This record gives sequence, C-alpha cells and structure tokens, in this order.
Amino acid sequence: MSGDDRFVIIGGGPAGIAAAISAIRAGFPAGRITLLEKGERHDPSRTSGFGGAGANSDGKLVLESAIGGELETWVGERISGLLEDVLELYLDFLDPAERPQYEAMRGRFSDPEAGERIQRACIRAGLEYIPADIIPLGTTACHGVVDAWHDFLVERGAEVLLETRVTGFASADDGWTVVGEDGRELQARWLLAAPGRSGHGFLVGALEENGIAAVNGPIDVGVRVETDAQLTRALTDATWEFKLRGLIDGEHVRTFCVCPEGSVLVERYDEDLLAVNGQTLPERPTGRTNFAVLHTIHLDDPCDNPAQFAQAYIRTANILGARNAIVQTWPKFADRRRSRDDDLRDSFTAPTLASALPGDIRLALNAKSCRVIEAFMRALDSPGLLEGLCSHRTLLYAPEAKFYTVRPARLSEQLESDRPELFFAGDGSGITRGLVQASASGIVVGREVARRAQ
Ligand SMILES: Cc1cc2nc3c(=O)[nH]c(=O)nc-3n(C[C@H](O)[C@H](O)[C@H](O)COP(=O)(O)OP(=O)(O)OC[C@H]3O[C@@H](n4cnc5c(N)ncnc54)[C@H](O)[C@@H]3O)c2cc1C
Repeated sequence: MSGDDRFVIIGGGPAGIAAAISAIRAGFPAGRITLLEKGERHDPSRTSGFGGAGANSDGKLVLESAIGGELETWVGERISGLLEDVLELYLDFLDPAERPQYEAMRGRFSDPEAGERIQRACIRAGLEYIPADIIPLGTTACHGVVDAWHDFLVERGAEVLLETRVTGFASADDGWTVVGEDGRELQARWLLAAPGRSGHGFLVGALEENGIAAVNGPIDVGVRVETDAQLTRALTDATWEFKLRGLIDGEHVRTFCVCPEGSVLVERYDEDLLAVNGQTLPERPTGRTNFAVLHTIHLDDPCDNPAQFAQAYIRTANILGARNAIVQTWPKFADRRRSRDDDLRDSFTAPTLASALPGDIRLALNAKSCRVIEAFMRALDSPGLLEGLCSHRTLLYAPEAKFYTVRPARLSEQLESDRPELFFAGDGSGITRGLVQASASGIVVGREVARRAQ
C-alpha cells in the first residue's frame, strides 16, 4: 500500500460505518479512511446524517438471513457468521451496563410454542408467519450506539466529513476520483458506495455515468397502521416484530417494521418528499402499536424507473395533505370515504402523529394496492392474530413506501462491481433492506479492503 492509498466511503449509514470500523479492526490504518456524508451529525431528516436512516431507526436487530435483504445471494454460507459479527458491532458499542439486558433478549422473541400458535392462526387466515430472531434495541439505545461509532472513528483518526455531498465518481489511474458538491476531488484506491435509499438519485446517475449495468429492485407501497397496543399484545409479546405475509390475488403483501408502544413519525427525502415511518421509545410507551402494510410491486418492461412510480404516490399524498401525512380511520377507508376531523374525534384511537391531517388515502394510492391491503387487513383481523383490527380502534397513515433501489447487475462475493476496487453495500444498492444486513454488507467490504491493503 502506498502512503496515499485511501479507502473512501460514500454514505455514513450503518453500511458505510460498519465498513470503516471493520477495516480498522482488521488492521487498515484509520488515518487513510475518509467517510463522506451529505447530512449533519444529528440530521433532522431522519434519513441522512451520521448514522444514516439507521441513527433514527427503531433499532430492531433482525438476525435472520431471510429478512432485511438478499446479502446471502452474494456471501453464501458466510451469512450466519456475519450476522453474529453485526450483533457484536452493536452490543460492543452499547453502554456496558446495558449490554446484559439486550443479550438476555436473544431468543426471547423466537419462542417456538408461540410461533407454532401464530403459524396455525395464520394458516386458518390464509397467511404466512415468518419467525424472526430479534433484539429490539429501541431508538434511544440505537442513538447511543451511533454516537459511540462516531467517537471510535474520530478518536482513531479516520476522516469523517459531514455535510459533504458527493456528486459523482470516475475511474482514475490507480483507483477512483470522487467529486464533491463544491467541486473538490478526492483520490481513492478503494471506493465504497453506500448511499442508502436517500442516495438513490446520486447512485442512478453515478452508475449511468460510469457505464455500469444496473437492475431495478421491486418497490413497496402501502400504509402505516396504528392501533391499540392491547390488540397486538399477544403477537408482540411473542415475536416483537410480527412478520406476516399474504398472497392475495397473486399479489404479495406483508407487515413490516412493527413498533409496539410506539409512535408514527415523518421522514423526509430529497425533493421535499415526506413519508411516514414508526419508532418505539421504550421509556415513553404510547399505548399504541404501529406497523406498515406493504404491497410489493415488481415493475419491469416497459417501465424503466419503478422508483418514480412510488414517488408519484408519495407526491400525490403530499399534495392531498398539503405537505403533511394523511390519516384515515379504518371505517372510512373501508367505506371508500375520506376522513374529516369529526371522524378522528370519534375514533377510539387518537393519532400519535399529531401533524397528520384527515384525508382519503385511496385518492393517492393505486386501486390494486388499496384492494390488496384491504383484503390483507381483513385477514389479519382473525382469531389468534389481530382480532378487532378492522374497527374504530384503527387508523391508517399515508404515504408509506419503500423504494429507491437500483443495484449493479454484477457484484462479486466481496460486493465488488465489475470495475476493480469499486464496492457497493447497504440499502441504496438494493443488496439489503435493514440495519443488520446493511451493516453486514459493510463488514464484508471493510474486511476485504483491509485484506487487499496488506
Ligand atoms: C424511521 C426508520 C426506522 C427504521 N427501523 C428499522 C429497524 O428497527 N430495524 C431495521 O433493521 N431497519 C430499520 N430501518 C431501516 C434501516 O435504518 C436501514 O435499513 C439502514 O439504515 C440502511 O443502512 P445504509 O447504510 O444502507 O443506508 P442509510 O442508513 O440510508 O445511510 C446512507 C447514508 O448515505 C448518505 N448519502 C446518500 N447520498 C449521499 C451522497 N451523494 N453523498 C454523501 N452522502 C450520501 C445519506 O445521507 C445517509 O446518511 C428503519 C428506517 C427508518 C427510516
């Protein structure tokens, strides 16, 4: 390695940070790492800043290869070991006094007997239950971990450049040239692009400019459901993050990101787009549970930009809500009528997202998704599952969407593209969809770069 050989990382989310920490732990000199992050240290967007979307996440560590991404496709059998390494990456950076309480949760939410009961109820309701090994860190502990990651990198001498947006990169004589918004150029011997979902536009442009063939991922559109925590307790006590899937008229629909005793919040993307999400603050129980219900859509020929389809939903909902989230009571959604202030007053559940305005989700969300989501909600309202869900106790929020995934068509088992020394990791490149796998993908790249540098 020459004195100038730098490892440059675009994106300060869990994938980029895990790559930096793993490289250092594997012997790569911290002083030769530069991490470029467009957001602030504590960014108000909830999708950017040091820690990325992960910093503001609910901190549910889902330790399953089948959930939260497709990393196994590239890393094969190494996946199990990587999931354990990720767990260490989080537990190691917790306040040592807190660690035992989280370790004790391991396995608690994968109780086989409860799992079997839920599975039987699902079979009766025509649904599928995906058991998951989860440690629910919660938002506050997650913030603590991200702060400790930051201190680790800075104290060891890694360069962490915040409020530094990368606009492109191009192959250079011995590696890559990375260009910042202010025109500043940086030379990288090894380059990792880990810009997350909020870096979708950047990634699409960079792949195109470098002539790297890309494939579009599926998109998810739907609603966030909020209901009484009591109504979901049988499931959240047994599994915390209940993952239920339905196949309705050939369409895939599922629950996602369950937040027991949580609240609904707003997240902001570029171009002033606003969507809803959820979080749990264990120290501030709300008496409500919220979770997403998402319809997965695979758009292919002739559609060449599925992300725009999801963006159109978000934009329409933002127009209807005058740049606020929309909330609708279940009875009005089922009756195909908009909600008004009176409906919210009469509802048995007050919205935890106070800024959401009553409206009509069906005006924004496509008819097929509305039909699939309605049928799925009715199936969830079954004995042994979420009985009572389709009632005055339930609110729906919009827009909720997961998109922005485009990935290089060819990636090696070390997540290197067909251009030497250019690596991809995390959610933005469609490899992952959650904290654990995003971090795992970063570990793969960090260790590989450290190995090559020796
Ligand atoms: C509210 C919320 C709750 C969530 N809860 C959970 C949960 O409980 N469990 C779970 O597993 N997952 C959860 N997730 C998802 C999880 O946060 C993501 O899967 C994870 O953060 C992805 O990591 P990443 O590093 O790939 O991307 P990100 O976390 O999105 O980080 C990418 C970073 O790159 C930066 N960036 C983008 N473009 C550029 C550019 N051009 N130049 C410089 N920097 C750039 C962004 O600002 C961002 O900080 C949640 C997400 C949200 C929004």
